[in-house]
Amino acid sequence: MTGLLQGKRGLVLGVANHHSIAWGITAAAAAQGARVALTYQNDVLKPRVEKLASTLTDTPLYECDVQNPAHIDSLAKNLKGDGLDFIVHSLAFASRQSLESPFIETSEEDFVQAMTISCYSLIALTRALAPIMNDGGSILTLTYIGSRRVIPSYNLMGVAKAALEASVRYLAHDLGPRGIRVNAISAGTMRTLAASAIGGARTTHKISNDATPLSRELTLDELGGAGVYLLSDLSTAVTGEVHSVDCGFHTVGLAHPG
Ligand code: NAD
Repeated sequence: MTGLLQGKRGLVLGVANHHSIAWGITAAAAAQGARVALTYQNDVLKPRVEKLASTLTDTPLYECDVQNPAHIDSLAKNLKGDGLDFIVHSLAFASRQSLESPFIETSEEDFVQAMTISCYSLIALTRALAPIMNDGGSILTLTYIGSRRVIPSYNLMGVAKAALEASVRYLAHDLGPRGIRVNAISAGTMRTLAASAIGGARTTHKISNDATPLSRELTLDELGGAGVYLLSDLSTAVTGEVHSVDCGFHTVGLAHPG
């Protein structure tokens, strides 16, 4: 199928490099005819995002560190006028310390930072950008099964993802009257920059793959395809949901890698 997003304009936050889930969804959306604007977190990541953006057509770039409210405000100003059909929020952060120490040691400072970046940013972005979104639009975020089950070392990020998933439901309720849908993809493990910060990521990745009914790695293309479905008019009756795209891992869980 082609042209599923023809004529649609989107914003994707969270591209760091070509392994990023955000990039997988961007590439799939562009292949289906969407025009996509990208953000980069800071000047260190900018050149990599610029390089990727140059492989697409008509892809403006904006700086957006979600901890900076001025960046979010200026996103809304920059994108105003053209209309916006979809937003992909594919970003998260928790301090290394909070991922390496036992969960019980989580500091208030680390807790607030992880929740602000990984969860509150979806609320702030939605509030800022919903006024310029077209009715019937779609908002998508990324989560992980560590929100519902204990995954060793996922710790604080699991709590942030639980709050993110609840936020998806409440935002879906607020925006439902405009036909704007809010959903999350709960992705299987992928080898990305963010994942490398999680202790034992390689072991978890291997165990996750071995434990899936499909017994294999999830690909970026598959996440891109699921993203296209949720951003497109194929899913206009789907909102407030967490969709597992993980080769079936959520059906079997995870034995402790110990
Ligand atoms: P990634 O490192 O490629 O992307 C993470 C992005 O978060 C980066 O682009 C980074 O710049 C951005 N970010 C962090 N702090 C930010 C801030 N203050 N302001 C703006 N951007 C900020 O890794 P990824 O795995 O593609 O992560 C994307 C999303 O997918 C995250 O929400 C992650 O939790 C989720 N996820 C990842 C996996 C996995 O195994 N990789 C599994 C399920 C869910």
